[in-house]
Amino acid sequence: MNDFKKYDNYELAFIYKYKIASYLPATRNVLMKCINERGLSEEDIVRLIEERFGEVYDPEQHKCPRCKTKKTIKDNDVAGSGSYQFVLKKCDICGLDFTKPYRLPKKNKGNILNKLKAILFFPR
Ligand SMILES: [Zn+2]
Repeated sequence: MNDFKKYDNYELAFIYKYKIASYLPATRNVLMKCINERGLSEEDIVRLIEERFGEVYDPEQHKCPRCKTKKTIKDNDVAGSGSYQFVLKKCDICGLDFTKPYRLPKKNKGNILNKLKAILFFPR
């Protein structure tokens, strides 16, 4: 069973968006429970993801260009071959496949409005 409590809100947002579909119903329930316990709404999740998208990717700092996680990600056993590679192949948080080229999502017009809203309603 996945322990989602170890993840921060940003990580949970990415897990929710990119990985929930791959989870079994029981695991989904655990994830939803954790999100609800933190009081994160659908809007919060969208905002968290957009904030991370807006961060500049720094290969020295970040392990993943999409969710910008700083966590060390170990590759899994390569197709049951028994050999263990320490090459980063997949993001542990958002599931991004590092073996394929990645482009940051294009900004749409809505983003600016959402950012403005975020500033107005969630002052830092
Ligand atoms: Zn990621």
